[in-house]
Amino acid sequence: MPRFAPLRTLKTSKLKTPRLPPKVKAKMAQGMGKLRRFALTTVKEEYIARMQRLRQGACLRCGLCCKLFFECPFLQNLPGGSSRCRIHGRKPDNCHFFPIDERDLRDRDSLGAPVPCGYSFRKA
Ligand code: SF4
Repeated sequence: MPRFAPLRTLKTSKLKTPRLPPKVKAKMAQGMGKLRRFALTTVKEEYIARMQRLRQGACLRCGLCCKLFFECPFLQNLPGGSSRCRIHGRKPDNCHFFPIDERDLRDRDSLGAPVPCGYSFRKA
């Protein structure tokens, strides 16, 4: 008698992907966002330049983009809720160009921000 059912007898419709808690999903999206920004700033200079032309507004120094997936060790939280980057003049491109596009704003908002990012994007 076989120990396991033969593969052809398994009903794949009964194999369901486990549901992940929303916090885990958001964390995974934040990690993917970090990889996406790294890839875009490394190989997609034209896309970065185009999105920078569509970007409007200014940084409010809320520091939330520095808390995606993990809190950056160079983030300095200031009294009054503001923040600053300890390596601002030398920070990597994926930080420098944040937010690159709307996906970054969605990742940032997944942290439950009380106010939106100071940047937004005009429609192309
Ligand atoms: S989330 Fe937006 S407003 Fe806040 S620090 Fe980052 S770029 Fe600035």
